[in-house]
Amino acid sequence: SFSAALERSAALEARIESAPGELRMLTGDRPTGALHVGHYFGSIRNRLRLQEAGVEILQLIADYQVITDREVAGDIRGNVRNLLLDNLAAGLDPERCTIFTHSAVPALNQLLLPFLSLVSVAELQRNPTVKDEAASAGITSINGLMLTYPVHQAADILFCKATVVPVGKDQLPHIEQTRVVARRFNDKYGVTFPEPGALLSEATHVLGTDGTKMSKSKGNVIELRMSADETAKKLKGAKTDSDRHITYDPEHRPEVANLLTIAAMCEGGDPAVIAEEIGDGGGGGLKKRVTEAVNTYFAPLRERRAALAEDLAFVDGVLRRGNERANEIADATLAEVREAMGMSYP
Ligand code: ATP
Ligand code: MG
Repeated sequence: SFSAALERSAALEARIESAPGELRMLTGDRPTGALHVGHYFGSIRNRLRLQEAGVEILQLIADYQVITDREVAGDIRGNVRNLLLDNLAAGLDPERCTIFTHSAVPALNQLLLPFLSLVSVAELQRNPTVKDEAASAGITSINGLMLTYPVHQAADILFCKATVVPVGKDQLPHIEQTRVVARRFNDKYGVTFPEPGALLSEATHVLGTDGTKMSKSKGNVIELRMSADETAKKLKGAKTDSDRHITYDPEHRPEVANLLTIAAMCEGGDPAVIAEEIGDGGGGGLKKRVTEAVNTYFAPLRERRAALAEDLAFVDGVLRRGNERANEIADATLAEVREAMGMSYP
């Protein structure tokens, strides 16, 4: 239930304070584009906080998941590089975290086979998040990988026995599915996996310039890598409303409130106070303020990203080492699983 998940999340926050070295965190992104401001405040900021606290971090680039909801995979290799650059520029420390891709870790993917035997088709078809995502991607016929992606996610989380998974509310059904898979495996074959907990984050629904959820596959994003000019241009075209007096009213003025929230997150201020300061400045005043806030806040990240892009040998090395380490972890877990299942042969 939601209240139980909330309690677990609070308990995890306490352990991050008291015993970070005992925790392992897994998060992931799909290589479908470059990361945007929504990712930064919804997810990356949390990753950095846990890294600073001393939690071990595994960062998945979920390349196989690209082909769940689209016909054309696009430039996966280029987008893998985008994700590496974005994460490293944001401050993920390659000495302390493991950044890896699905497709380079065969033993992780093999966990899907026993895991799929532990869930029913009806259970998979009930998952509300899968239905929502299919609907928002405009998919009428859900393919088998899309239907089973929560189980693939269970493999992502359990192959490394992650204890913390930072997510928004909409991802809770998946964490619940992972806990169920772990529990059923342990009951059937002997205790092998810990049940992970969701670490709930707040800013999980940053809106894009069209007023719908900011999303790489839509044209509504402020990418982290954009230049100051590109950012200004993009925000100039952002949807607002006709009331020149700016107020912070998320319920009645969601687009205006979203821009105020982005400015506030960048400035470390309060959206209602920023609204008062803009006063009768209208959409123009609001956009000018947000543009300045975004460009100032992300300037150092953008500079680091440009420098990293000049050293692709280093960036590729980070992924190579990450994949090596992920393979070591996955091989060890798969060996344990096969042993538990009586499938370990000479
Ligand atoms: P796609 O359009 O390809 O689905 P996306 O922009 O939705 O891309 P994902 O890779 O699906 O990005 O999401 C990775 C994670 O980033 C999500 O689990 C979520 O926690 C976070 N995230 C994505 N979009 C937003 C957003 N608009 N606001 C806050 N967090 C977000
Ligand atoms: Mg998405």
